[in-house]
Amino acid sequence: MDKKQFKFLREKMVSDHLASRGINDPKVLQAFREVPREIFVSESIQKYAYQDSPLSIGEGQTISQPYIVALMTELLEVKPADKVLEIGTGSGYQAAILLNMGAKVFGVERYAGLAGQAKEKINSLGYTIKIKIGDGTLGWREFAPFDKIVVTAAAPQLPQSLLEQLAAGGRLVIPVGSRFSQELTIVAKKGKDEFSLKAVCGCVFVPLIGEEGWDEHS
Ligand code: SAM
Repeated sequence: MDKKQFKFLREKMVSDHLASRGINDPKVLQAFREVPREIFVSESIQKYAYQDSPLSIGEGQTISQPYIVALMTELLEVKPADKVLEIGTGSGYQAAILLNMGAKVFGVERYAGLAGQAKEKINSLGYTIKIKIGDGTLGWREFAPFDKIVVTAAAPQLPQSLLEQLAAGGRLVIPVGSRFSQELTIVAKKGKDEFSLKAVCGCVFVPLIGEEGWDEHS
């Protein structure tokens, strides 16, 4: 497939899977029109890049389905120059969407191979990102506080470190629940220890493995 065909499929994804399912924010829709999802998966599966489904990215991990990435992005209410911490950078696609919207993105990924490829692909689009290899359940204290935090793996509970590293007035979007099904949850931080929670919908993510997440061997 050539660039023109991917562009056509990208437009179709935005209208058929995002706009028609309630993603309204024009800045979010524009980002999905501009960021090429196909470069974030291996060449052999690029033809499936604009299906509304997760795809394998290696290490037993996935790039999330476009609708969920769009929903999480919309729920974050990203503004240009927001400092956004993304836990579970994986392929780098969600980070590229946030960068396209003008956010400064700090990514944490536990697999070095995925983190390296994500950085390379993001740079190839002309964006820059800071990526740390490690346990994102502990956040990234050195650069805290963050205006927004997005967690793209399933947490058993809200990680305390992330609550602490969220700025007052900030938002955390995170799937919380069991290893096999979760509620996509928005946490709004009002003051130092004051939070409000809202469950948005059911979802299924790969587990968030780490000190304040799931045990790797459980
Ligand atoms: N946002 C990604 C994208 O756009 O491709 C989706 C990533 S995938 C659904 C979830 C990612 O979370 C995986 O790459 C996995 O390795 C990572 N992960 C799981 N636990 C983690 C942790 N404690 N810290 C950092 N990354 C973690």
